[in-house]
Amino acid sequence: MKFIEFAETCEKLEGITSNLEMTRIVSQLLQDTDELEIVTHFIMGRIFPAWSAEELGMGPSLLYDAIAMATGADKGRIKEVVRQRGDVGLACEELCSRRVQRPLFSGELTVEQVYRNFESIAQAGGKGSQKRKFRMLADLFGSAKPKEARYIARLVLEELRIGVGEGTVRDAIARAFDVSADLVERGYMLTNDLGLVAATAKEGAEGLEQLGIEPGKPIKMMLAQVAESMEGAIEEMEKAAIEWKYDGARMQIHKMDGEVQLYSRKLENVTKSLPDIVNLIKKDVTFKRAILDGEVIAIGEDGKPRPFQDILRRFRRKYDVEQMVKEIPFHLSLFDVLYDGQSLIDFPLSERRKILEKSLRAKHSSKIIVAPQIVTSDLTVADGIYQEALSAGHEGVMIKNPKSAYTPGKRGKNWLKIKPVMETLDLAVIGAEWGEGRRANLIGSYLLACRDVATGELLGIGRVGTGITDEQLAELTELFKALIVSEIGKEIDLKPEIVFEIAYEEIQKSPNYESGFALRFPRLISVRSDKSVGEADSMQRVRELYEKQKGRGTTREVREAP
Ligand code: AMP
Repeated sequence: MKFIEFAETCEKLEGITSNLEMTRIVSQLLQDTDELEIVTHFIMGRIFPAWSAEELGMGPSLLYDAIAMATGADKGRIKEVVRQRGDVGLACEELCSRRVQRPLFSGELTVEQVYRNFESIAQAGGKGSQKRKFRMLADLFGSAKPKEARYIARLVLEELRIGVGEGTVRDAIARAFDVSADLVERGYMLTNDLGLVAATAKEGAEGLEQLGIEPGKPIKMMLAQVAESMEGAIEEMEKAAIEWKYDGARMQIHKMDGEVQLYSRKLENVTKSLPDIVNLIKKDVTFKRAILDGEVIAIGEDGKPRPFQDILRRFRRKYDVEQMVKEIPFHLSLFDVLYDGQSLIDFPLSERRKILEKSLRAKHSSKIIVAPQIVTSDLTVADGIYQEALSAGHEGVMIKNPKSAYTPGKRGKNWLKIKPVMETLDLAVIGAEWGEGRRANLIGSYLLACRDVATGELLGIGRVGTGITDEQLAELTELFKALIVSEIGKEIDLKPEIVFEIAYEEIQKSPNYESGFALRFPRLISVRSDKSVGEADSMQRVRELYEKQKGRGTTREVREAP
């Protein structure tokens, strides 16, 4: 397929808001191409499949270098055009349309050529690789028509801004090749690769049914729903399997004979940062080939879990990794097994659990355990485990249905979580950001602030954007339009007049916001039209809640989750 056909389809999609129409156009695109895997990834703004460790390794700065080289514009000019157009893609298109040099080679670019060029950029490593990377990209821009340049630039930043998400592509694959959307979804959850799913779907439903899991390719993680109450959760399951909900980070472990790969909750490959966990798995897990699911925990000197940021520090560490292993030692609690030579995901949890218990060598170290689990229908026993988990500084409990299969990527009723409710915060809205794609005319997220009582200043503490429906977004956009002070690109500066009530999972220390704190998973509960900004919660209160949360579990009584 010619790349211009892809670019023109993207342009068409940019102007469309109807989901149905989008699905139709993407479906047509998939039918028209022979490079099905590449096009499927490209249309979602990805270059490589989500499970792959391959990445382009180019940020805006190298992208600007490449545009400069290809168009002759200097970096200052490029930044100015980006600011004016509010988007790198449009800026790149404009600059390419004014370039005087002739394209490097005359033929038309194909999707395959663009992908191969990206692949070479990703593979460039070692000394001088940055230069080679932007030169290769400059060559690509040199051969691209202005409209193609718009989407090449956006692909480099992996943000196409056309509003096509996974859901649209799933439905488009189903429509293009006349297979059920459920089968497509199942294939995606198992392989984490919609490109592969599209190529398989083209061959018919049978192939899709045979897609399975294998070590080396991460699988979407099964997720938990909030339980209405402990009582309700246990009643619904007859007997429930209860485990601590550890305060750590999710880890999917793939063992392939002598090799181990580790994936975070977002399925990022974090193997290189965690050599201690790799060694534990090599030493203590008996299975030759396996996929295991669990939680890594960093235990502090007081025996309680350390803050989540400490875990993230280890995940992100690329240098002096051994030093970090000593500074922040990890423990691993395993709670599931998905593969032991064959796929186990359709086995009931109780069976998987028996297999898991056999997975560790008898004399294993205390740094790796199978998470203790009690199967009960007795509420007092369950409450006892909940109290125990909180006293140990963990988050609460997980209540699992022993009869349930492992459903990748699903947040269903078979895994329920119970944890104490956090008090909400009332925060001033001081800024915002325009949305993307079909939400481009709506404000998509809001910058929140607490008050410094001493100075009266409003100090940033985080952004909220998720959990707001399109309808609410439209209402809020109307409300805030009158308060816009200035705009740079997508960023909006707002006159602080409105207070949001915000729920969150945790308050964290953070250098990213002026308050020194950030909120984990903030959710909009309500617009506090009864409150003025002067009554927004103070930084002092945020600090109090942060301190209280550190000592969590020592005094708290069992409360029902919302
Ligand atoms: P949440 O992130 O609040 O949706 O809760 C689900 C997360 O709890 C999982 O992704 C795991 O990281 C974590 N977790 C801690 N302990 C367990 C456990 N015993 N079983 C399953 N998930 C657990």
